[in-house]
Amino acid sequence: MGCLKGKKDSKEKAGNYKCKKCGAVSDKKKHVCEPKKIKKD
Ligand SMILES: [Zn+2]
Repeated sequence: MGCLKGKKDSKEKAGNYKCKKCGAVSDKKKHVCEPKKIKKD
């Protein structure tokens, strides 16, 4: 399973993951290569 490569399959919101490399966003950690959990602010 690879990174979404800049695409988003979910909204950029708290609890989802954003890739530090390419900016992909998903609610599934495995879908991004360098997942960073999005925090609520
Ligand atoms: Zn990525």
